[in-house]
Amino acid sequence: MNINTNANCGACGAPCSGEQTHANSVVDQSSGTFGTCISCGSLRVLDKIDYNALYSKRDSSNYPSAGNTILVNLKQWYLRRTAKSLVELIASPSAKILDYGCGGGEFSNAIHSLGFTSVYACDMQLDRPQTLSSDVQYSGIVDIANTGLFDIIVMRHVLEHIEYPQPILQRLACQLAPGGQILIEVPNSRSLFRKLLGSRWPGYFYPFHVHVFSEQGLSALANRCGLAVKAVTQCNSPIFGVFLMGLGIKRTYARTLSIFFYPGQCILNQLTNRQEAIRITLQKRWP
Ligand SMILES: [Zn+2]
Repeated sequence: MNINTNANCGACGAPCSGEQTHANSVVDQSSGTFGTCISCGSLRVLDKIDYNALYSKRDSSNYPSAGNTILVNLKQWYLRRTAKSLVELIASPSAKILDYGCGGGEFSNAIHSLGFTSVYACDMQLDRPQTLSSDVQYSGIVDIANTGLFDIIVMRHVLEHIEYPQPILQRLACQLAPGGQILIEVPNSRSLFRKLLGSRWPGYFYPFHVHVFSEQGLSALANRCGLAVKAVTQCNSPIFGVFLMGLGIKRTYARTLSIFFYPGQCILNQLTNRQEAIRITLQKRWP
């Protein structure tokens, strides 16, 4: 694999010529290389990857909503709880909400299930995901520009997949209604388990993740996009399902074990204040 040692940080634009980190692929036995930004500490892939070809073979949902009913119900409960903590606290029931990069639409469904009546979803595929509720409006990522302004735009585990995040975020900032907010959740470059699991840390999710952001990097990216940082917090998304599947354990077993590991993961992450994901809330800077 060719390495681009001149790659710049997707967050702050500085060179990613710092420490190199290797990550195991989640699709085959290969591995990739991330470089560390010398300014903000974010990481970005240095390998030259054809992302259009990569995503043409795959939708963006890690876990399709099928199979074991208990696991599906647990996932839906988790997403509902996440939607409550992410959206319900700040948005009125009539708020117009966009789930940008919705994958199979499970998180859009969770938002709608809380009583929000104006929920939109978009992703790369033109066809509406089969698992998306019929009450959620869907469009392809290009057409979303024609759906007007939004009070809330959610990008949950999306930004790390986008090769050039700045122009996308700038365009989305133009679709914010007055007082509107963009809510972003991404893997945390300071995660405790990044240190503990090494090249098998699921936050790398190589080759699908281009970036692993730091809090400082996300703030710099917001600044470059004309957005103000309203809040930065950390949260814990379960990681052991992907980790165990990387060890060759079957998906159903890996997901079941992940549920048992999750409380311990949360305790360790919170004790060290190095949780799995960063949440950042952005608002437009009005002149
Ligand atoms: Zn940077």
